[in-house]
Amino acid sequence: MSVEYTEHEGVALLTLDNPPVNGLGHATRSGIVEGVSRAQADPAIRAIVITGAGRAFSGGADITEFNTPKATAEPMLGAVIQTLENSSKPVVAALHSVAMGGGLELALGAHYRVADGATQIALPEVKLGLLPGAGGTQRLPRAVGVELALRMIATGVALPARQLADTTLFDAIVERDVLGAALAFAREVSPQAGARAVAHPRLRDRALLDGQADPAALYEAARALARRTMKSQPAPLKCVDAIEFGVREGFDAGLRFERECFVALVATPESRALRHAFFAERAASKIAGVAGDTPTRDIAAVAVVGAGTMGRGIAMCFADAGVPVVLVETDAEALQHGFAAIDTLYRGQVAAGKLAAAEAERRLALIRPSLAYEDLAQADLIVEAVYEDAAVKQQVFEKLDAMVQPGAILASNTSTLDLNRIAGFTRRPGDVVGLHFFSPANVMKLLEVVRGAQTTPEVLASVMKLARKIGKTAVVSGVCDGFIGNRMIEQYLRQALFMLEEGATPRQVDRAIEAFGFAMGPFRMREARPSAEVDALVRAHAVASGIARRAIADEEIVERLLFALVNEGALILEEGIAARASDIDIVFLAGYGFPAGRGGPMFHADGLGLAYVRDAIRRFQAQPNGATWQVAPLLDRLAEAGGRFNR
Ligand code: NAD
Repeated sequence: MSVEYTEHEGVALLTLDNPPVNGLGHATRSGIVEGVSRAQADPAIRAIVITGAGRAFSGGADITEFNTPKATAEPMLGAVIQTLENSSKPVVAALHSVAMGGGLELALGAHYRVADGATQIALPEVKLGLLPGAGGTQRLPRAVGVELALRMIATGVALPARQLADTTLFDAIVERDVLGAALAFAREVSPQAGARAVAHPRLRDRALLDGQADPAALYEAARALARRTMKSQPAPLKCVDAIEFGVREGFDAGLRFERECFVALVATPESRALRHAFFAERAASKIAGVAGDTPTRDIAAVAVVGAGTMGRGIAMCFADAGVPVVLVETDAEALQHGFAAIDTLYRGQVAAGKLAAAEAERRLALIRPSLAYEDLAQADLIVEAVYEDAAVKQQVFEKLDAMVQPGAILASNTSTLDLNRIAGFTRRPGDVVGLHFFSPANVMKLLEVVRGAQTTPEVLASVMKLARKIGKTAVVSGVCDGFIGNRMIEQYLRQALFMLEEGATPRQVDRAIEAFGFAMGPFRMREARPSAEVDALVRAHAVASGIARRAIADEEIVERLLFALVNEGALILEEGIAARASDIDIVFLAGYGFPAGRGGPMFHADGLGLAYVRDAIRRFQAQPNGATWQVAPLLDRLAEAGGRFNR
């Protein structure tokens, strides 16, 4: 049952029950309409309360029904909301935990809203390249004002309900027993038996609150922000358009305009790419040979070995998530230096207004610097981040093996060494796993989880769960040189250098790939500032190697860089280093600044058509550095068959 109907002293309670987040799938939408009709028909019922069971009021659309006929089957959400608005008995939404997307739009259709103060409130559709399609762009401005609605809808930010206390969005905000409060509220606003029916307030009838004579400046500011932060994405601009249109033309016209924008956005390549990334991230948590119910180990205390560049950031990741860390070094100066660097980073966050001073103190206090290996004996997870030297790693892992408690997970942050060899330094290779953080580790989202030949399913499941806890996007990689990301980026950097030799300048290469949408070109990535000296060196090198320099078009630069990624990605996929093409896409979206609106290298290649990619590579083979290209067999086969990497 996805909507439960119960009666509470004259109030009908509709409880959405569609785990995990009460997604508004077809059965749930139908259940709400049926529940309201039943309450309407029952003379003993004076009011209706809608809430959600479990962990959410409602998280919005039911993602399991995406791209199925159920997603578009009547009643659609707009019709459900109309049913609420048209009810002659007052409808009160009781919000708790999460009210997002369609879930919030549903609540906006109720006559009254009572919220638990901690409820996360958001219309995050823009993050999928869309806008709220069930009246959100029209009702929210009428509840919170144009300025805040622009911010919430065009950025998708989530705010706790108590932060919206100054707006008219909620009729009451409580800190506990929201359901009890909503039932009491419903009785209060429902007419007594025999009394004349009253019309209940609807957001669609409410005047806009701002009193701004000319909100044009607000629209322009929102557009400027969108252009700056979401580059060439059409969705945030459409969000602003829809709000502006409704303010100018009125609610009903605004609703029609919103629908037109929604339909247009669904078909954009950017939205397709963002939706691909959304599902890809979920798919990445499914690991072959690791069942969903695999037991996990508790990780309550962590140790990090090595307080260098990576060790510091890794320690902060755990402290930021409230997990105590002991940071172990052999070198007193390095330890002091590392800990001071952490302190400076936290102070910087406080100075920038990103963190309260007390919270910074609390996090810093969770990191305990130590020069004694004995201090890590009780840790549930030890992350090694010492020099990239096999002999040093051997020493460290042998020591760890001798002293850590049974069941502790031993992780290495190695970038290039063979994880299976590292596991072989211990008598417990099943407990050894790679946790490849990216620099700066406390900032970068990506975490490659390296699965050794003997890493147990339990260890994998445990570190994937931990990754979620510390807010990382985890992707599993098999063991190979460079794992998924660095192995691919190596080929990309190689082509970038070849193109210098053949006639491009570092600035041209950077500009071309940045215009495609990359956060940073390959030379800026390595701090190659424009330099006449470098240009002269490159020219001299080209003469020495007998390469005739030519003008290289920006299109060729972009294709050679991207197809170098795609071709290596195809090898990685065929070798089973990545379980699925979408995992590779996530690595590049989360770790390498690949433009979000392009969906990752493999998705982008699918969109171009793999025959196109393969044929371009064949053309590159005829160039001066052509011997470095070999079409990956999987790419060739898929190109021949008209297939795609992402199925
Ligand atoms: P780093 O040189 O900055 O720090 C290494 C630290 O380890 C030093 O402070 C050193 O004193 C300490 N150390 C050496 N031997 C030790 C031992 N036996 N016990 C305890 N501490 C010891 O190195 P880094 O850049 O932080 O790299 C660490 C690891 O992370 C390497 O395996 C590297 O490949 C990997 N990695 C680095 C990056 C990066 O961008 N720097 C990115 C991903 C992974």
